[in-house]
Amino acid sequence: AETELIRAQRFESLAMLAGGLSHDLRNLLQPLLLAGDSLQDYQDDPRLARLGRLVRDCGKRGLDMVQSMLSFARGARRAEQVRVGALLEALALLLQGSVPRGVSLEMGADDPELSFDGNHTELQQCLLNLSLNAIQAMPSGGCLRIEAGLVTLPSSFFVPGEEPREGTYLGLTVADTGTGMDEGALQHLFEPFYTTKETGTGLGLVSCKRIVTAHGGVMRVTSELGQGTQFHMYIPLAQIRAEALELQDQSDLQGEA
Ligand code: ADP
Repeated sequence: AETELIRAQRFESLAMLAGGLSHDLRNLLQPLLLAGDSLQDYQDDPRLARLGRLVRDCGKRGLDMVQSMLSFARGARRAEQVRVGALLEALALLLQGSVPRGVSLEMGADDPELSFDGNHTELQQCLLNLSLNAIQAMPSGGCLRIEAGLVTLPSSFFVPGEEPREGTYLGLTVADTGTGMDEGALQHLFEPFYTTKETGTGLGLVSCKRIVTAHGGVMRVTSELGQGTQFHMYIPLAQIRAEALELQDQSDLQGEA
């Protein structure tokens, strides 16, 4: 069996590669996008305008992929005070316009004023990734539920490979009533590049897990085919997480972010 260390090293190389690649790709795609933009305004030749739209749409999709590669590889992280309410408010803003008509959004926090050490932007990115996945899993509508609350985790909650740390955690849940996943899909869920979507990157969940781990937390997922999926992130509220963040800082890439 491969050791944790080898796995971690392979992961770091992958992150490094993704970081370098996305930097170069972004520089290539941006002028392409601009060219597409100007072409599509071309009044005299509808064929050119059509080509312009095509160039712009493909460029836009490429940039989206690059963006998710970048957040996967992102290095510099800073610990700061994160307020639960602010996290959810920011998410609501980001989701505005992305929640389709048939999907209802339920959002709530036991204690919105609760603050903890962490990185606002990264956790927001996690919640956004999970929410967009949830929405995509509900093509014919449903309910997207996002909740934050305190939970006490016993050491029996942790699985081998995780450091069992019983204590108080902030639980963040993103749940949908969508397609759900079978056992096979669940097994591959956190593997880099695993995707079932035509234009997916398969890096969204990898990047979520990376961020949660950097916060000293753990992720759990439960899913039932045809019923829906629940993603849970547990962020520790004890001293430990500051250490975890610092450790991560040193071992992280200095790559472009
Ligand atoms: P991507 O969204 O680019 O495919 P992710 O890592 O975010 O990459 O997700 C990997 C795969 O996990 C998705 O392609 C999808 O098959 C599955 N998945 C993720 N979230 C959900 C969900 N809420 N419901 C059903 N399937 C999901």
